[in-house]
Amino acid sequence: MTGRVLVVLRGAWELNQPQRKSLVSWIEYGLKGVVSKAGKTLAVRFAALDSITKPDSDTVVFGIDFVTEKRPEKEKRCQPGNVTLGDCGTGSVFITAHRELAVCGPNQASRYDRVLTTDEWLGHALANTSLHELGHLIGGFEDNMDAGDLMSTLGLPKQLRTKRNRREFFAGTMNWKPHQEQELIKNLKSGQRGFEIQTH
Ligand SMILES: [Zn+2]
Repeated sequence: MTGRVLVVLRGAWELNQPQRKSLVSWIEYGLKGVVSKAGKTLAVRFAALDSITKPDSDTVVFGIDFVTEKRPEKEKRCQPGNVTLGDCGTGSVFITAHRELAVCGPNQASRYDRVLTTDEWLGHALANTSLHELGHLIGGFEDNMDAGDLMSTLGLPKQLRTKRNRREFFAGTMNWKPHQEQELIKNLKSGQRGFEIQTH
């Protein structure tokens, strides 16, 4: 069976061009292998909410919504609600939470320093969160507490939170586990977990 897997990134206009480039390339990195093993081709596109038309029957579509939320004050960057990077199950990814992501470690001098300070890192971290959301949407995966897993919601222990560790944790290169790959390939082949884009 042939066909296309279309990942539509909505609301990402807030990001600049280098950030969008990094975002797309790391989403492609995470999906190209499984899409190709499912015998399909991958397309990642930016689209405005009202520009989506019904895709053809050979295309399975997944949507990620990028949301710009309120910017927290410096002292609030480490509070739980402000380090939530996405809304699991809905495909929403929070841009400001990524931008404001702080060290939040034990060192008071650097506690509120931002971590994702280049376009490449910001785009890569947004892609990792997007892949986590696509894991919910495509794989039907649950969150887990396994370190180094794309579906993990386990944070970095506070004593290990330096700027560098924190950056590597959120903007590092992530791969699916073999059993996740199998599940993703199976679902992409059947095309059953895709959905029609809703315009609202
Ligand atoms: Zn999740």
